[in-house]
Amino acid sequence: MTDNSTSMISVKMHGKNVSVRLHRIFLNAGVDVIREIAEFIKNKRCRTPFIRDFIKQNSECLRRRQPAKLSINTKGKYYDLSGIYESINNKYFNGKVSAAITWGAKSPRCAVRKRTLGSYSSHTNTIRINPILDKKSVPRYFIEFIVYHEMLHADMGTETKNGRRSVHSKEFKMRERFFKDYERAVAWEKGEMRD
Ligand SMILES: [Zn+2]
Repeated sequence: MTDNSTSMISVKMHGKNVSVRLHRIFLNAGVDVIREIAEFIKNKRCRTPFIRDFIKQNSECLRRRQPAKLSINTKGKYYDLSGIYESINNKYFNGKVSAAITWGAKSPRCAVRKRTLGSYSSHTNTIRINPILDKKSVPRYFIEFIVYHEMLHADMGTETKNGRRSVHSKEFKMRERFFKDYERAVAWEKGEMRD
């Protein structure tokens, strides 16, 4: 991954090996864009409408020095989301969830709503976790539960609307219960809300 915005994608062949350099913004790309990149690696002459649209949509962030909306930050003060994500992905999804994960921004402009603990955007294939959870008093199993919940959305292809729990099918709710600490996590959240 690079910060090189003059060459967003570069592909080099070395005999049987291929090396690919991609601009960092592609960490937020959805599956259509990723597929097209794969196609492009195989055939540089293929048409790339998704890639072109994606770059166009994100060009504002590219021009800015700090692309606030797209920055990926997994290391919190107490919790590292990438480790949590990896282990849940392996344990419950056979490693097949491909979403990016990040702590949400603390600045008011990009802030997630107060009671929104996590969200998933299918457009950017990104899970955001509210940074209010990044503290000692929040048990690890609860963060894992929120991450697991959003990964279910990523896996099932459903978007969270303002993070409210409105898009939960029967199947979703059933799968949610597979989480090892489900009862404990739900009870902990209830206790927190009361305070
Ligand atoms: Zn949800």
